[in-house]
Amino acid sequence: MHIVVCTKHTPDSEAKMSVDDVGNVSWGESPLIINPWDEYAVEEALTLRDEHGGKVTVISMGPEEALEALKHAVAMGCDEAIRIWDDACASSDTLATSYVLAKAIESMEDVDLILFGKSAIDAETWQTAGAVAHRLGYPSLMYTINIAALDADGKSIVVERLLEEGRQEVSSSLPAVVGTTKGINEPRYTSFIGIRKAAKMEYPLQTLDDIGAEVDKVGAAGSGVRWPQVFAPPAREGEAEIIEAETVEETVSILVEKLLAEKVI
Ligand SMILES: Cc1cc2nc3c(=O)[nH]c(=O)nc-3n(C[C@H](O)[C@H](O)[C@H](O)COP(=O)(O)OP(=O)(O)OC[C@H]3O[C@@H](n4cnc5c(N)ncnc54)[C@H](O)[C@@H]3O)c2cc1C
Repeated sequence: MHIVVCTKHTPDSEAKMSVDDVGNVSWGESPLIINPWDEYAVEEALTLRDEHGGKVTVISMGPEEALEALKHAVAMGCDEAIRIWDDACASSDTLATSYVLAKAIESMEDVDLILFGKSAIDAETWQTAGAVAHRLGYPSLMYTINIAALDADGKSIVVERLLEEGRQEVSSSLPAVVGTTKGINEPRYTSFIGIRKAAKMEYPLQTLDDIGAEVDKVGAAGSGVRWPQVFAPPAREGEAEIIEAETVEETVSILVEKLLAEKVI
């Protein structure tokens, strides 16, 4: 089995985004980390590899900072890591990002399964995984909460998808694209040995030529969406009133009177 996990680097989830007057986005001094949702995809890939044999390759389209995400995935246990980048890839929207990832996957041999996290915590379009599946012509199994069965030789998979109404069992042929979601597993911590392995590992860089991608289909040139302006929502206006009374009963009674007067209840 050859499993590919797609990941990207994001600011730490504790980071506070700020937008200046002309729309420049900043995450301050926040450290870059692996997109937290991708840890579930990595964990699932490692578990499947350990059950069925084979290898896990983690890939990221991104500048040098993307190495943070790749290193974390290797420290968790991935076997190979590839970064794909060309300066022309800057400002890629999901259309262009999915094109590059699909070309990179196409250029690899014998890929059986492609795993994604549910979304990226910074841009949160939630669309990259589905778009890659579409470009490759593979089945797209999003919101997967459980991989119920996998037949590596028979090239089939059964997953449970999380829906608002409950769970849906879906079977599909392989290769397929699976979007994982929180709850599918409990991602492992990186070990000291894993971190050392990640520090020593080679991270080959693939260019657009290496993956057979056309330069006018990436970056701003290949994007359909522009983000001409990003702005923070205006601060909410409101007033708070603290009800001070002698007892809880009195406090509740005053609160109820106020809510009735405001026609809230
Ligand atoms: C500051 C800033 C400026 C931006 N400017 C623009 C713009 O001008 N126009 C525009 O349309 N978009 C812009 N984006 C969004 C950017 O294009 C998205 O990051 C990209 O399309 C991927 O979508 P996503 O991050 O929402 O991932 P999602 O679709 O939410 O993520 C789903 C899965 O895909 C994986 N994934 C996403 N990207 C990659 C990648 N590069 N390599 C490997 N795996 C990946 C995630 O890790 C996750 O597992 C901007 C984002 C930022 C933070």
